[in-house]
Amino acid sequence: MLHVAVVGAGPAGAALSLLLARRGIRVTLVERERDFERTFRGEALMPTGLEALRAMGVRDEVDALPWRPIEAWEVYLDRRPIMHVREPGADLGDPALRVVPQPQLLQLLTREAGAFPGFSFLQGASARDLLHEGDRVRGVRIDTGEGARTIEADLVIGCDGRASLVRKRSGLELELLPESYDVIWFKLPVPDRLRGRTPILIFASGPDVALAYVSWDGRLQVAWLVDKGAWRELRRRDWLVDCVRLLPDWLADHALASRADMEGPVPLDVIVGRCAQWCAPGVLLLGDAAHPMSPVRAQGINMALRDAIVAANHLVPALRAGGDLTAASAAVSRERMPEIQRIQTLQIRELRGQRWARQRPWLMKPLLWIAPLLTSRAWVERAWLRQQRELRFGVTEVSLAV
Ligand SMILES: Cc1cc2nc3c(=O)[nH]c(=O)nc-3n(C[C@H](O)[C@H](O)[C@H](O)COP(=O)(O)OP(=O)(O)OC[C@H]3O[C@@H](n4cnc5c(N)ncnc54)[C@H](O)[C@@H]3O)c2cc1C
Repeated sequence: MLHVAVVGAGPAGAALSLLLARRGIRVTLVERERDFERTFRGEALMPTGLEALRAMGVRDEVDALPWRPIEAWEVYLDRRPIMHVREPGADLGDPALRVVPQPQLLQLLTREAGAFPGFSFLQGASARDLLHEGDRVRGVRIDTGEGARTIEADLVIGCDGRASLVRKRSGLELELLPESYDVIWFKLPVPDRLRGRTPILIFASGPDVALAYVSWDGRLQVAWLVDKGAWRELRRRDWLVDCVRLLPDWLADHALASRADMEGPVPLDVIVGRCAQWCAPGVLLLGDAAHPMSPVRAQGINMALRDAIVAANHLVPALRAGGDLTAASAAVSRERMPEIQRIQTLQIRELRGQRWARQRPWLMKPLLWIAPLLTSRAWVERAWLRQQRELRFGVTEVSLAV
């Protein structure tokens, strides 16, 4: 029987391994980390991601994880609240935007995959290189911590994230899109004012932006956008004082008072781009390895899960029939590329639009005056939601066919 090696047990790799194993394919999943307990992993699921998990047959199990719905978006400009837009949770019902613990989601997917005899999971094993036979990839060389090993495979699927080793070793080129910021993540105890509430708060002032929301564990997760590379300098001084200048007084005071109870900070080197080619003979890239996503509007997990579904649709028949895996892999990237291109364009457009407005002080005064008048107007909510439709529901039709 043909054998697939999947490198990386993030959302793309864990989901694809489950789908392949369930269809009787022999899969070896290789993950560098010994456990999934990294505090700062993405955790917002859009309707696209929730629908993908439903199609994978794990929605009841996902619902049983601790999760929180997002109820609204609140925008602060120069530390003053200017706008509140309701998230249409009540209208969308089940698939409304929610935050879930990614470690538990990954445990769930790999546990489900473990129920199938063809699945094996090597945790704490790092891919170090690809094996080649002529111009075809024939497997992967790994380091298990107890020594080096090779895994021969008919197809190696690189789901190893933004800095993908599989991508680098297979010569598939990443075309970077211009994004010039990094994100500093940290968690704090939840302030009294947000107890029992779950909005996403956006703080903007001049060129600076931060956002915060109550995470699945009831703590406040904060993301502070800084210039690319600026963290090296910021970390040497009292960086929290710089960060809280963006926040309203009630939150700034809380952040400074509860800093002893902070998790993080963890800097995320933001890389955004996509490969023109996702595959070469014997190798296919998925998720952030093929198209590292911007953090804007929480798309990365959702796109990775949809990649896994499309990959299963094309690969399962080819793997079962001993068919042409290179052609099947090329079909995956052809089908996924239009959605990825469009979503990345929307993310960049949104960030540039915000930046453009904030860099024009003459625009800010009327905005500060008008925005509160627009809050809670039904037509404003409709316009906001319409503008974000594709970021919530996707661009192309994705459904599991195998
Ligand atoms: C702090 C943070 C917050 C985010 N917030 C959101 C959000 O709210 N919503 C959202 O949709 N997206 C969010 N994202 C982005 C999202 O997490 C990613 O886009 C998504 O996880 C991509 O999934 P993936 O499976 O392609 O890659 P990853 O999740 O990056 O998984 C790659 C896996 O490969 C493993 N790996 C890497 N190299 C090797 C190797 N050599 N050998 C073996 N294993 C290897 C890694 O350990 C990792 O487990 C966030 C990202 C971060 C960092």
